[in-house]
Amino acid sequence: MTARLIDGKAIAQQVRDEVKAEVARIVAAHGRAPRLHLVLVGDDPASAVYTRNKEKASNEVGMRGHLHRLPADTSEADLLALVGALVADDTVDGILVQLPLPKHIQESRVLDAVHPSKDVDGFHPLNAGLLSAGRGGLVPCTPRGCMRLLAETATPLAGARAVVVGRSNIVGKPIAQLLLAQHATVTIAHSRTRDLGALCREADVLVAAVGKAKMIQGDWVKDGATVIDVGINRGADGKLVGDVDTEAARERAAWITPVPGGVGPMTIACLLENTLIAARARVAG
Ligand code: NDP
Repeated sequence: MTARLIDGKAIAQQVRDEVKAEVARIVAAHGRAPRLHLVLVGDDPASAVYTRNKEKASNEVGMRGHLHRLPADTSEADLLALVGALVADDTVDGILVQLPLPKHIQESRVLDAVHPSKDVDGFHPLNAGLLSAGRGGLVPCTPRGCMRLLAETATPLAGARAVVVGRSNIVGKPIAQLLLAQHATVTIAHSRTRDLGALCREADVLVAAVGKAKMIQGDWVKDGATVIDVGINRGADGKLVGDVDTEAARERAAWITPVPGGVGPMTIACLLENTLIAARARVAG
């Protein structure tokens, strides 16, 4: 079997088009565009690119995106003051503080300060708790994007065996919760998991969110599986590669996301969706 590639670029564009149409409806009905405020502390080049792209994408769908750039030596108190002002500003629908933050700032304090209703990254503990309880809330963008990719492949999830490799709060755990909500039987693997290969071979749905180039070998993939590769790594030749050995895995899988062009483009598209959800809740009052 040669796996079909899941075209994340095309699906992300579809999501952006859907958001754009809905933003136009909100503007027509309420006379104002959803507003997304991004906060970047310091000058990490990757974070600068991500936040610029997020701001640009939000403006492209008719929202009003605004990027606050703060110097690397910004104090935690000053950052919290800005977040507090954005929380209090009734015209702001979504707030995203780009991670990682400089070492002298405690990330959890800042994430906790973003009001859950404006937490478009879905990282606030209340949103994490709502997801865990199956009660909605704002869902982290990358996991949300992975679920949309799975939906587009029409991979059956109810009763499927799903293995998620990686247990971070921003990717692994929320993906596992979302798969569970769709009635998959989910196992979360991590660095202490024994015989990862054997576990992965049982997976009808295999999600890799580790951050280690080509760690998931081709013969770890079950015949006919759907493989979602979240990893973004630089290969020895400087090119982007995922956590899965894609070429080898394609021999067995039914569907697989390429890197780049798979999960990556979905993250920003789903941020726009989250901002729309937050704005809708606000205008509905
Ligand atoms: P983290 O570093 O926070 O988590 C990595 C996870 O992988 C941990 O749970 C860790 O286990 C586990 N792990 C590490 N080594 C192994 C191993 N040998 N075997 C099994 N599990 C292992 O990373 P993130 O979750 O933030 O990101 C994961 C990847 O996804 C990265 O490549 C990142 O760049 C990418 N990413 C891509 C996004 C996109 O838009 N496409 C968005 C976000 C992330 P333990 O907990 O035991 O340490």
